[in-house]
Amino acid sequence: MRATTDDFVHKGMRKQLVELIKSKGITDEKVLTAILNVPRHFFLDSAFEKQAYEDRAFPIGEEQTISQPYTVAYQTQLLQVKPFEKILEVGTGSAYQASILAELKAKVYSIERQKRLFDANKNFLFLKKYPTLSMFYGDGFEGLPTYGPFDKILITAAAPYVPAKLLAQLKVGGFMVLPLDEGENQRMHRITKLKDGDFSEEKFDEFSFVPMLMGKRQ
Ligand code: SAH
Repeated sequence: MRATTDDFVHKGMRKQLVELIKSKGITDEKVLTAILNVPRHFFLDSAFEKQAYEDRAFPIGEEQTISQPYTVAYQTQLLQVKPFEKILEVGTGSAYQASILAELKAKVYSIERQKRLFDANKNFLFLKKYPTLSMFYGDGFEGLPTYGPFDKILITAAAPYVPAKLLAQLKVGGFMVLPLDEGENQRMHRITKLKDGDFSEEKFDEFSFVPMLMGKRQ
């Protein structure tokens, strides 16, 4: 069962979480405000309300996890979200990251390959708050060609390589933020699409994500 009430205790825990994330180096005030505004405990079973406000990943079933709040803040900060931008997210999972992007007023298109996780979000009432958030059951390696091109793309699972079909769905000047596999861990990358088919690459810190897997799963 999901929790549906958000009281002063939850808000207090969120404030502390935001302070912690700030102390770890996240500076973008809009990102921090989004973390403050989205009740992360709604995204977990109500038995785990306290854990929802610890800075760590947490299991959500199907061997998947809701990303650590710091990681969500880190990827979102790199994404430099502006209102009305079209953003493709690969790996909806709990839909927490997708909600943070919607909170920043982006038009979010989020894909999940696991049918059960996708279905769980269909009846998740809180998400109705975000009319600009659409969710799809599909393979993130394919992207969503009929909805592109996108201003930004965010991959929230460990990518074995930069998916070519996703690069093709980026606007010129747009960029993709993704954790790229380097064995045990992944290094966060930001790949910008330049004119004439060129790309530039920036590298950031190391993280540990669940793998990005091929194909859909029933
Ligand atoms: N953004 C999520 C994090 C989920 S973990 C959140 O905020 O909770 C990564 C998710 O990526 C998992 O749910 C996993 O099933 C999904 N995933 C892995 N490979 C994928 C692919 N090829 N296409 C779409 N989703 C994928």
